[in-house]
Amino acid sequence: MAQRPYVIDMMISAKQIAARVEELSQDIQDEFSDTEKLVVVGLLRGSFVFIADVVRELDLPVEVDFLEASSYGDGTESSREVRILKDLRGEIAGRDVLVVEDIVDTGFTLKHVVGLLKARSPRKLKTIALLDKPSRREVDISADWTGFEIPDEFVVGYGIDFAQRDRNLPHIGKVRFLDEG
Ligand code: 5GP
Ligand code: MG
Repeated sequence: MAQRPYVIDMMISAKQIAARVEELSQDIQDEFSDTEKLVVVGLLRGSFVFIADVVRELDLPVEVDFLEASSYGDGTESSREVRILKDLRGEIAGRDVLVVEDIVDTGFTLKHVVGLLKARSPRKLKTIALLDKPSRREVDISADWTGFEIPDEFVVGYGIDFAQRDRNLPHIGKVRFLDEG
């Protein structure tokens, strides 16, 4: 696919994200204060920056694991069909689990992943998403904690890509195509 020319407009600053991560981490800490071990599961690849920031705010015994589910490919539209490309390395039966997602959009990905992991009988499973696009939802699910609700825009940065680019932006920006009228 040829890359259409685009620019990135600022949506959520690095400072706003950091402040919100601190608040959310406090809530997570309270929820899991009695944990023996919290397995923090990052959904690759978009959550890698978010999970890094969240775990460093947690004063809990934490393990980090990753799961990769396919979704968008290289385009800007959800495929609705969720496939597991990389499963967890560790067992989660009887464990406390926090699933960390970058964006809940149609909801197919989070719903599928939560179903898959709940079937493995964790003691407690909670979910956090940095971003939520409620207007796009097609299945009935929402994360237990959400960083920011955003409108139906294609966003990048803070770990989130457009065709593998722009993950290294420190803020969240929205993609604006220059060839659109
Ligand atoms: P869902 O299954 O909820 O439709 O899609 C969730 C996944 O789609 C997210 O994990 C994320 O990877 C991807 N996604 C949703 N919205 C956006 C977006 O605005 N930008 C990017 N880069 N990915 C998105
Ligand atoms: Mg994702």
